[in-house]
Amino acid sequence: MKRADVVVIGAGSAGSVTARRCSEMGLKTVLLDRKPRFLIGQKVCGDEISRSHFDATGIDYPQYDEISSSISGADVYPPNLENELRVRGWAEFDGWTVHRLNFGQRLLNDAMRSGVEFHSDCHVTRPIMRGEQVVGVEYKDLSNKEELSISSKLVVDASGFAGVFRSKIDNDLIEASIEKEDVALCYREIIRLKSPLAEPEVARVLLGGKYAPSGYAWVFPKGEQEVNVGVGITGGQGKGSPKSYYFKFRDEYPLLFDSEVLDSGGGAVPVRRPIKSLVADGIAFVGDAALQVNPIHGGGIGAGMRAGIILGEVAKRAIARRELTAKGLWHYNMRFQSGFGQRLASLEIFKRLLQDVTDEEMDFGFEKRLLEADDLMAANRGDGLSLSPLDKLKRVKRGIGKIGLLRKLQSAATLMKKMSAAYKNYPSHLSGLDEWNNQILEIVNQAVFR
Ligand SMILES: Cc1cc2nc3c(=O)[nH]c(=O)nc-3n(C[C@H](O)[C@H](O)[C@H](O)COP(=O)(O)OP(=O)(O)OC[C@H]3O[C@@H](n4cnc5c(N)ncnc54)[C@H](O)[C@@H]3O)c2cc1C
Repeated sequence: MKRADVVVIGAGSAGSVTARRCSEMGLKTVLLDRKPRFLIGQKVCGDEISRSHFDATGIDYPQYDEISSSISGADVYPPNLENELRVRGWAEFDGWTVHRLNFGQRLLNDAMRSGVEFHSDCHVTRPIMRGEQVVGVEYKDLSNKEELSISSKLVVDASGFAGVFRSKIDNDLIEASIEKEDVALCYREIIRLKSPLAEPEVARVLLGGKYAPSGYAWVFPKGEQEVNVGVGITGGQGKGSPKSYYFKFRDEYPLLFDSEVLDSGGGAVPVRRPIKSLVADGIAFVGDAALQVNPIHGGGIGAGMRAGIILGEVAKRAIARRELTAKGLWHYNMRFQSGFGQRLASLEIFKRLLQDVTDEEMDFGFEKRLLEADDLMAANRGDGLSLSPLDKLKRVKRGIGKIGLLRKLQSAATLMKKMSAAYKNYPSHLSGLDEWNNQILEIVNQAVFR
């Protein structure tokens, strides 16, 4: 049997970055993906990523053929498409839409250059267990149907939305499944427009039940005359398929008339706080497999890269100390959950607010400017919705007629703060996890804004 320090399942953005960091830390690292090598990185995605994630991780910015467009602003539209919120001049919003395949290939090449041993066409099927401890993986080489296995000190599940090992290890620390309402089902096309965009650096986001119930439609520039357009709706509500909503949107949104479709496809992304523990004995989860995604917009490339860097460093320490139990890997939980994780978790509350308010309330909120661009940016940074007393007074004046909506906003602001505080106080030992998780579930259960 082959042996490695670390086996990473999945060479998406999270897996490639984790594997690279493990290898840079001196660990013998094997990376497996079921796809052929030339398709690594290909993914149905909105393709947008903020520069801030690269600044935080030290990963090189996308360049040359990895970039489709530079992005420096967004227009957010309410359901009636009037009174849009124009977000401009926020450095933390700056970034790119990337050429997903080329970007993914670069992350993989970086990993291989740092010493990672990569095997394509390898479908991982099962964990190898010694009692509760994961000690390797079984996989099938799809090129010759051979059944193989690798033993390792640590297994990293970076298999994306499916989180293939979450349901295969029987351990109370790991949440095997997630609710349908916490999944966004998406359909998107890449389209060549009939005429150039007026503002090719500005992304558009459209809220409301008409095109995207409990979700949103997006138009992200991919060049002067090309866009990535899609619809994401939250699942489990019997509201129809994202594809049918998408076609309605494309047929009715004038910018998209008479355009040429270059690529199309569907996908799913988790839109919830990260799983309660990112580790169990001998295993860690990263990227979509760990639900490390921004619950408002479903952006997960950056979060997974941030987590991968931390995980590589924690893996090094745990292996050096020969402590590959959940306890030995706990530092990954503490660093991620109390850092970027608290930001993602507090945004779950904001997502629930957006899901619950009616289209009419949303139109009113945009018309009266009950939330401004800086509120959205603060929320996105993890600073919550800081409604100061003076602010509140101004908003109450503007919000007269819909006091109920103001109350919902206030209540969401309070719960976001609570969620953030709870994640910042992530338990330092696994014995505190159950009590902590009960506290989190209590906050989530209060986040009903109907
Ligand atoms: C429609 C849509 C739009 C999105 N838009 C954006 C956006 O604009 N910006 C953003 O940041 N994020 C966006 N996201 C989310 C983003 O795509 C994900 O968060 C990110 O790709 C997750 O990376 P990952 O490495 O965790 O998983 P993935 O990129 O899914 O990689 C998982 C890898 O694991 C491999 N794998 C799976 N199972 C196995 C197995 N059993 N054996 C071996 N290999 C396996 C797969 O082949 C794949 O290569 C979007 C998602 C969707 C669906």
